[in-house]
Amino acid sequence: MSNPFSMAGKKGVVLGVANKRSIGWGIAEALAGAGAQLGFSYQGDKIKDKITPLVGSLDGAFMLPLDVTDDAQVDAFFDGVKERWDGIDFVVHSIAFAKSDDLNQDFVRTSREGFALAHDISAYSLTRVCQAATPMMKPGGSVLTVSYLGGERVVQGYNVMGVAKAALEMSVRYLANDLGPSGIRVNAVSAGPVNTLAARGISGFTDILQHVAEKAPLRRNVTLDQIGGAGAFLLSDAAAGITGEVVHVDSGYHILGM
Ligand code: NAD
Repeated sequence: MSNPFSMAGKKGVVLGVANKRSIGWGIAEALAGAGAQLGFSYQGDKIKDKITPLVGSLDGAFMLPLDVTDDAQVDAFFDGVKERWDGIDFVVHSIAFAKSDDLNQDFVRTSREGFALAHDISAYSLTRVCQAATPMMKPGGSVLTVSYLGGERVVQGYNVMGVAKAALEMSVRYLANDLGPSGIRVNAVSAGPVNTLAARGISGFTDILQHVAEKAPLRRNVTLDQIGGAGAFLLSDAAAGITGEVVHVDSGYHILGM
């Protein structure tokens, strides 16, 4: 009997690993552990240097440059993937950015440019990546992105990124509806707080970590392994009946009222 959780024989790309603390790396490790072959993106030479040993630790993995604000780079990235593989089974989108000025002031003061930039990188990029990636996906293909509770409710300090996450989560639903007839699923994990490079830009982040550890039903913060496991599940055939879903991987924190 075949194991629907296995990723053996499946190939896919993970976009947005900056270092070994990245959520994208947690998902990549779970996918590799389940037998998947992986390709990675990197944004700039500094990140390339950081992830070279990580990518090198996985059999047959490769990496290519990608800045999602540049259409030519998005297309070139997937052309590069096509040169290596005849098709892909999955895409992990683990990318977000907002200017620190816009994160560190009241949301009401968000600049037009900062709002547009945060939405371009953190929300629109999922749609643009699907445009380039899904033509090389077979039925059974799957796309995963990473969201946060601040896209559903006000989390102090999350500001413009919360509004971008709301757009990202709604994009998941519209993309799932468009791509479902081709047999492609689109889902998100809404991860609890994790101490990553991106998270350091959010003021009061240490307080958020402490609050979740004290109040969440499981009384602890989530680990990269836990987010990775849920992400790999959603990308696997075990989740073949799930699309357009946002799965909270947050020690149950989102169920709380006060
Ligand atoms: P991270 O800094 O490790 O990863 C963010 C990645 O986005 C980096 O690899 C960066 O290079 C990439 N990126 C930013 N702008 C880009 C661009 N223009 N083109 C290409 N790549 C670009 O941080 P992370 O916390 O692992 O973030 C990954 C995802 O997880 C993000 O969507 C983030 O919002 C989400 N998330 C994080 C947390 C958390 O607490 N860390 C919680 C929930 C959701």
